[in-house]
Amino acid sequence: ALERYASIRDKDCVTACGTRIGLHMNAGLMADLPSLENSGAEGVGLFRTELQFLVRNQMPKRTELAALYSRVLDAAGGKRVIFRTLDIGSDKVLPYMKPNDEPNPALGWRAIRVGLDKPGVLRMQLQALLRGANGRALTVMFPFVAQLYEFREARAEMDKAIAREERLGHVLPESIEVGAMLETPSLAYAPNGFFREVDFVSIGGNDLKQFFFAADRENERVRRRYDTLNTSFLTFIERIVQRCEKAGTPVSFCGEDAGRPIEAMCLAAIGVRTLSMRPPSIGPVKSLLLRVDLGELRRVIHEARERDEQSVRPAVMDYLRWIT
Ligand code: PEP
Ligand code: MG
Repeated sequence: ALERYASIRDKDCVTACGTRIGLHMNAGLMADLPSLENSGAEGVGLFRTELQFLVRNQMPKRTELAALYSRVLDAAGGKRVIFRTLDIGSDKVLPYMKPNDEPNPALGWRAIRVGLDKPGVLRMQLQALLRGANGRALTVMFPFVAQLYEFREARAEMDKAIAREERLGHVLPESIEVGAMLETPSLAYAPNGFFREVDFVSIGGNDLKQFFFAADRENERVRRRYDTLNTSFLTFIERIVQRCEKAGTPVSFCGEDAGRPIEAMCLAAIGVRTLSMRPPSIGPVKSLLLRVDLGELRRVIHEARERDEQSVRPAVMDYLRWIT
């Protein structure tokens, strides 16, 4: 697949109407990093740090993690990497952590909730990230933030970690950006302050869709019932993008749908300008985006909504047949 798209690999992703869309890749292990070069991704839009914790049988040490993060940044060769802090707990139980018996793990004690309630591991990870950056730019985001105050608390942990590094005389990153993943509908309705205070927002479409439709993302039966191109869901995403734009806050989309060409093009049509996906999806997504007029597509989407259609997919497929 990578070879097929080799001719457009180094081409900027600019749509037929002249809009630039940033295409980034999702990663989680060192082994993923060579794809940055092969796929033509502009950077790593989502580095899932929990994978490093899940492949071991004991808690990694801060020095080991710092060395790993440093190697990730070396391999990225100056391209931006967004490190997501640990998204564990509930279903993703670490072998060396006491398991938690929870009836609804996806709605349970996970991700930033664990990080804020028991901050030891989060603090260790933030220090490792600051050390690993070793004077370079550092970008960090927190998973599963559901309300403004959770973001504030998490950011306060980062500020404390920075102050500690300074006190110890360690070199600080040349710049530090701190963002939040928007994965719960509650955050879409957060006070304006949330959108102003975050350095960026990354929409975690997998979880956001699961909670929007109340349909388990692991359960094929209920998952397939709800189309990502459902008019309600697209309207919801559009609203989030507008709130970010109004606050002047960059927003990206990093769920699996970012890597599906038709979904990706619809996200772009409703205002998403940065997508992060599995590396092999970059070619196909770019190939389609290069041919799309986002204004026309937006009109197709809005008209389908005006006709009370459940999903804009049929209308979008018609449009596609017309342009290809
Ligand atoms: C998401 O929820 O969309 C996401 C990118 O995070 P994960 O798939 O790791 O939950
Ligand atoms: Mg998620």
